[in-house]
Order: sequence, then C-alpha cells, then structure tokens
Amino acid sequence: MKKILFAAMLLPLSLFATLKVAVAYPYIGAVTERIGGEHVDVKVLAPGSWDPHFVVPRPSLIARLRTADALIINGGELEIGWLPALVNRANNAKIGGSGTLELSRHVTLIEVPKTLSRARGDVHPDGNPHFHLDPRNILPVAEAIAAFLSAKDPANAAEYDRNLKTFEAAWRERLAAWDEAMASAGGKRVVQYHGIFNYFLRAYGIESIGTIEPLPGIPPSTKHTVALIDAIRLEGACCILHDVYHPTKTAEFIAARTDVPLRVLPHDIGATESATSLEALYDALVGAVTK
Ligand SMILES: [Zn+2]
Repeated sequence: MKKILFAAMLLPLSLFATLKVAVAYPYIGAVTERIGGEHVDVKVLAPGSWDPHFVVPRPSLIARLRTADALIINGGELEIGWLPALVNRANNAKIGGSGTLELSRHVTLIEVPKTLSRARGDVHPDGNPHFHLDPRNILPVAEAIAAFLSAKDPANAAEYDRNLKTFEAAWRERLAAWDEAMASAGGKRVVQYHGIFNYFLRAYGIESIGTIEPLPGIPPSTKHTVALIDAIRLEGACCILHDVYHPTKTAEFIAARTDVPLRVLPHDIGATESATSLEALYDALVGAVTK
C-alpha cells in the first residue's frame, strides 16, 4: 500500500519535471528560457561580466554540471580554457555526446585562420567565436536550442516550437529596428581592445581599424599603441569599443591622445548595469556607435 502511494506521489512530479539545462553564458540562458518557458530550469555557468575566455572554475559550477540534464555551450573553442576540466570533474553522462549542444555549429564563423601558429597570438583556431554579438545570429541560435530541447523533452516539443515562432517574430521586429538605427553607421571606423565586437561591426558595415591588443590574448605594448594612435589619426575613428574585463588604461591613453571617445560595452547580459536582457545588450552596442 505504502509503495503504491509513494509511486502515485512520484507520478505527477515526473510529468511536470523540468529539464535542467546548464548553459555556458548568459545570452544562451536568455534564449533557452524564452524557448523552454516553464519546462526548463536554466543555470548559467559564467557570469556576464567575466572574460568569456577565462572563467574561474568554482565548485558551484561543477555542481551545476553534475545535476544538469543537458548542456548548451557557445563552442568555437570559446570555452576551451575553462569548461572541459569542469565537465570532466562533474562526471555526468547526461551531458556527454548528444547531451551537449554546441551553438557555433549552427552559425557561420568568420576569421577562420588559414594556418595556425603561436606567433600570431592566442588565436581562436575555429574562427572568431564571438558570433552572438551579431543579433542576426540569435535566430539560428534560437532554432538550434528549440530543436535540442525538443529532442531532450519530446513531450513538450510543440510548445518549444510555438515559443520559437513567437520569439522569432519578436526578434525580427527588433532586427528591423536595429537595422534602421544603424543605417547611418555603415562606413564608420572603430578601434577595439580584442576582436570581440567583429560580428556586430560586420553586420552593419563598420570597419575595425585595429585592436589595442597587438595579437589575440597578448597585452598592449608601447610600440603597437603608438602605431594604433597613428592609424587613428590617419584613418579616423568614431570610437574606441572596449570590453568590461580588460583594464582600460591603454584605451584611455589612446582616447586622450586622439580625442576619440572610449565606450565600455557589454559583450553579454549582465556585463554592464544596463545590459539586463538580450535586447538591452544590442541596444547598448547600437547606442555606442550611433551616438
Ligand atoms: Zn576572443
């Protein structure tokens, strides 16, 4: 009797069980929540204000991976420096193989190196992995997430599909608004710390004339900084785009020498106070190059 009662108590719970999805970065969490709705419990691993290349491994992250039913990562080797060791430690078969969705496989990566050499800095061997900063790439990302959630939880597939359609319609409206706002930004020139904003710039025809780091992952040098100042004076630039996690000392020096304004920008939700949502993230980028 007790056993039957116990089974009866478990049944409704399992019917309404939520899919526990661990995601690498906040932007992935935001899209997953929109598609998954009440059927998913999203746990973001890396805080949005941190350098996405170097996330400090903490025991709490291992715990999140250990209890996850599925894992969604950016891919393109962005997580290579921090996530594989945590996944190993978590030792959770559910997130192995098809239990992990790698979003980079669903978008076209730019800047794929023809040859790999350490002499060219800490390059991303699969190409530039910061594809989510082109808001148009959020559409294939959302589609991939909807298909992944449906595969993991077929009972709610129709709802994931409905949520995807709603999200896509709203996102297309946003894209149109950003296109309009950015129409006059095409042809502008910028300088940035690392090539993190390249997808955004490319989407709207803005040219990056140089990075403050001489090579990917290599800190600024005097020689390179002087050359960059010369390039700004020669070619002109509307602004210096900077992430929140590298020191802005060199950027401030360049800004003072060239009179080009420095704009510290979010690269993900939570990186700055105003970047409270996916929409607010791109609003901040659009605002920075159009003001
Ligand atoms: Zn990078």
